[in-house]
Amino acid sequence: MSQINMDCALSIIPEDPNFVPDKELMQCSLELLTKLFPYAEEHSARSFERVEFISPELFLSAVTCPICGVQTLRTSAEDDSGRLWFSKIDDSQNEVSENTITRLPACGHSVSFAELKFDCPVGFAKFALTARFSHFDEQIMSDEIQDSDELKALQRLLAVPLKALRVFYALLPSDRLLIEGLISDSEEERLAAANSLDELEPGHFEEHSVAKIFIEDKSSFLEASFRKSKHRSVKAWVLSFLADAEYVSDELVDIISAELRPDSLLLEPLLYYIYRNPKRFQHLKSGIKQFHLHSDSDLRWRAALALKNLELNYLDDIDVVRTLMLDDFYASRLEGLFAFKKILGEASLSEADRMFLSRVIDKDENGSAAFYAKELLSKQ
Ligand SMILES: [Zn+2]
Repeated sequence: MSQINMDCALSIIPEDPNFVPDKELMQCSLELLTKLFPYAEEHSARSFERVEFISPELFLSAVTCPICGVQTLRTSAEDDSGRLWFSKIDDSQNEVSENTITRLPACGHSVSFAELKFDCPVGFAKFALTARFSHFDEQIMSDEIQDSDELKALQRLLAVPLKALRVFYALLPSDRLLIEGLISDSEEERLAAANSLDELEPGHFEEHSVAKIFIEDKSSFLEASFRKSKHRSVKAWVLSFLADAEYVSDELVDIISAELRPDSLLLEPLLYYIYRNPKRFQHLKSGIKQFHLHSDSDLRWRAALALKNLELNYLDDIDVVRTLMLDDFYASRLEGLFAFKKILGEASLSEADRMFLSRVIDKDENGSAAFYAKELLSKQ
């Protein structure tokens, strides 16, 4: 079974949007759901005050107008009206009901949500059972889930016809709330969100990625938060999300160029941002090089990472790169070596290069930098 790291969910709702089981039955259905889908990361049985729109999020990419048949699409163009329309639905699902009137951007017709025809099953419900997965599971996410024994078992228990919706999240619902907090107008809420983000397990966003499309849609709000906030942690998180999405704008280039000073409290996220978006930061090469002897090993490593992705040349940069290749921190040695390989290109090793590579091997012993140094020496 193929497993791709991707946050998705199976949402099971009654065909009758108004059906809500009593508390006891709700509890039993949650227990059965947990038993039927033991590999889910999270199981929930929730009821809502009113009928809500249950959307498969990123699985939705087209909607057909019931009046004229014209399709509105979720495209990749950032300022596309269709894309904005879909992103607004993802943001405000619990404010949408069957009677909500929406104007379709592709044709301009105003219709109710109940009349819309999407390219994936959607639903309206006051009750939903959800099994959330952190991996895309082909079996659970296939069309066959509607006729599966699992769905039939839940149907028997609840004694109403059920419908299975497959959700592909742009980001975890809990992370969506945190990012919404980060771009709030209130500094208190921004700081609270940053503090909660600080408390997540290390590597949380490697496990649960945030779709680039989501960050792009929020980019102007994130930039505004960066400018407005007085707190380092808020600014650092904003930069980190923008960096991971490889989002860059003229305004951000200006902000980052002005902020990259030795006394900045944001050096780590700034260097990370430059590493992820190197093309626009060639002019900061000397500024980044000044950190190659910084007392903080993590900063030296980040400087090496950022430098490695810039255009380098032998004459100007070899001294700094050689120093990084012999750094006390193994991770900086490795990035320094990658930078050296980039500078060298197809050229031959000089005597001095050979000597430095031998010193890397002595220092790095069985590390990756030594491995690549040996490889370089053996080739020439
Ligand atoms: Zn229309």
